[in-house]
Amino acid sequence: MQAAIFYGPGDLRIEERPLPRPIPGYVLVRVTACGICGTDYHIYHGEFPTRPPVIIGHEYAGQVVQLGPGVSRLAVGDMVAIDPNIPCHTCRPCRRGAIHLCENLRALGVDLDGGFAEFCLVPQEQCYLLPEGVSALEGAMTEPLACCIHGIELANIRPGDTVAIIGGGAIGQMLAQLARLRGAGRILLSDPIPERREMAHQLGIELTIDPQEIDPLQKGGPLEGGADIVIEAVGLPSTTQQAIAWAAPGATILWFGVTPPGETIPIEPNLVFRKELTIRGARINPHTHARALELLAAKRIQVEPLITRKVSLETLPQLLQARSSSDIKIVVTF
Ligand SMILES: [Zn+2]
Ligand SMILES: [Zn+2]
Repeated sequence: MQAAIFYGPGDLRIEERPLPRPIPGYVLVRVTACGICGTDYHIYHGEFPTRPPVIIGHEYAGQVVQLGPGVSRLAVGDMVAIDPNIPCHTCRPCRRGAIHLCENLRALGVDLDGGFAEFCLVPQEQCYLLPEGVSALEGAMTEPLACCIHGIELANIRPGDTVAIIGGGAIGQMLAQLARLRGAGRILLSDPIPERREMAHQLGIELTIDPQEIDPLQKGGPLEGGADIVIEAVGLPSTTQQAIAWAAPGATILWFGVTPPGETIPIEPNLVFRKELTIRGARINPHTHARALELLAAKRIQVEPLITRKVSLETLPQLLQARSSSDIKIVVTF
């Protein structure tokens, strides 16, 4: 089978690998679609810990083609979306119910062979059946959507709240739709790229701005007085700081984007006191994968329009090297 194997920073090779044989409790999945995530760019450029050599790709769906011994809850032919994150269930955070903060977390496509390959071995409990009417492409978007559901729950949106979302990539677009489902009043999406603002309009988000053109906080601006919830979905120090600046008194700020480790920003503690701000992080997808699929099955969230390009596996090394930014979501299809 063809697979994209990460050997180290800047070294991703498309190679022929023998077909893996299912071990007890595992199934062999023929991958049909695997999305390229910001994390894959970070891995490629050596900015995210991994265990090379490893097949990367953690946002994927496919068809079960072979069962390992002892697999009871799946059948050959089943279409499944994969939850790549595997907690240990025994460390301190796991024992306290926070499996996503597991100290020994392993992930398919990061530490273990993942979805940028024609086939992948997956523990049966990491497989979620695709409901009827959910496509394989939507299946590949389930993992990032599940992460967004976790984030939106931590953002604690009340009906009628003004929500500002910084960043109109796939994550920002899904968070905006989820904010609407949570009952947000006004939703503003900020992105300097016109195609991303246009996408938000298509998905029913009326209010978008180019942050290089206008200051939304100015008198008469769309965020005069600030936003009740500000969600940062870019992962730059400058935008995490902007999120604090855009917060209304009593606001919750959610830093969803992954900033580079070691980067710091100045924060005025008195401002956090004076405005009684809540600053939160959100990490991966604890117990949200099944609900992501429910939302997709009910057509309450649109993810397929976010896929602006489908590519073959051979193009992956080139794409990761270039850090393409004009696309919203690129998916490798097989
Ligand atoms: Zn991801
Ligand atoms: Zn654990």
